[in-house]
Amino acid sequence: MASKKRVAVVGTGTVGSQAAWRLAARGAEVVGYDRFAPGHDRSAAGGETRVFRSLQTHDSRYVPLVRHADVLWEQLQAETGRELRRLTGALVMGPADDPQMRTVVDGIAEHGLDHEVIDAEAMTKRFPQFRVDDGELVILDRRAGFIRPELAVQTAARRAEELGALIRRYTPVREVAPVAGGGVEIRTDTGTERFDAAVVTPGPWVGDLLPGLPWQVNVYRAISAWFLPHEDPAADAERPAFIRCGDTPFYGIPSPDGLAVKLGLSQAHHQPVDDPNRLNRTVAPEELETFTAVVRRHLPGLNPDPVRVSVFMEGYTESNLPLVGPLPGCDDIVLLAGFSGQGFKLAPAMGDIAADLVLEGRTSQPIDFVTTHARTVA
Ligand SMILES: Cc1cc2nc3c(=O)[nH]c(=O)nc-3n(C[C@H](O)[C@H](O)[C@H](O)COP(=O)(O)OP(=O)(O)OC[C@H]3O[C@@H](n4cnc5c(N)ncnc54)[C@H](O)[C@@H]3O)c2cc1C
Repeated sequence: MASKKRVAVVGTGTVGSQAAWRLAARGAEVVGYDRFAPGHDRSAAGGETRVFRSLQTHDSRYVPLVRHADVLWEQLQAETGRELRRLTGALVMGPADDPQMRTVVDGIAEHGLDHEVIDAEAMTKRFPQFRVDDGELVILDRRAGFIRPELAVQTAARRAEELGALIRRYTPVREVAPVAGGGVEIRTDTGTERFDAAVVTPGPWVGDLLPGLPWQVNVYRAISAWFLPHEDPAADAERPAFIRCGDTPFYGIPSPDGLAVKLGLSQAHHQPVDDPNRLNRTVAPEELETFTAVVRRHLPGLNPDPVRVSVFMEGYTESNLPLVGPLPGCDDIVLLAGFSGQGFKLAPAMGDIAADLVLEGRTSQPIDFVTTHARTVA
């Protein structure tokens, strides 16, 4: 019988924890490394919720990958008995002629996604928490809701450990080095370990860990802010997540406990991060002005004074599409990075694709638009 493939996972955050689960479930001997511990909030994950949605505002090519992720979210939830996602639905709204709304409408036509168009009268009755302007389109994404990021990362990592993975916590990897003739060495402050292959998922630290990477991943500081309603919502009120397209795009997610709504703005409002090790987690009052403005304009039921703020990091490539696949000239090192604001919903699919690439050398998932093979090397 062939021996188990020994695989390192560098960074057991959003994507890495899922890669560890999928690799361990598929028979690999897995060692994960993280500079912190699974479920921490110092990187891209955290803040209670992330939107899961089937309707795509940026690029409909994500739809098949989201469908694969959807199946795996259900599987992880069933295997562990934890409520990782709650499918509340998500409203996608904005001017009908907005390019992102057009991407949504085209994606529905192309992929037959489960949805409902909500007219102005129905909005007033069903979703009085939103103000919708004339000429705006509102579509309810029925296969949508929120994911719990801390719980999802910890649950995937724990499931991987149950299946035999070892996770080295508080162990920053200093170097991932290909070995002549095949294999990879992982170097940390305490020693060097040898593997058949490595999945590298360091999120915002990708430039730090792989300084010679031929692609740029720019890191941004993203603020989440929580707001309370003026009145308690009715017990039977529908409280979907939502995405608002238009001149100031933003999104919102009801808190799992039902008490607050978390809002986030688009990348245009994020500040660049020079060094992920020195993230400024203090939010200045002027950074909240756009939040206050969108609450006043679009969400009349919320008090515009936030009750909580948090800061996270997101990595963006030049095209905003993630990098998925082997490093140039080294098939044993598979990189997954630069997931911008899209990565959480996709994470189990990306973990499974990493396992495909490492264990089988190819994947049947449609990753042509994100694969490292298709990228120009600078
Ligand atoms: C505020 C905010 C809101 C978002 N909302 C959504 C949303 O609603 N829906 C959605 O789908 N996506 C959303 N996203 C995007 C999503 O959260 C990210 O795309 C995703 O979390 C990125 O995952 P990752 O695994 O690449 O990075 P991370 O989750 O940051 O994981 C990287 C891990 O690598 C570890 N690490 C780094 N360097 C090393 C090293 N040298 N050695 C060891 N370990 C290392 C880190 O400690 C970390 O645990 C949002 C992002 C932010 C910031």
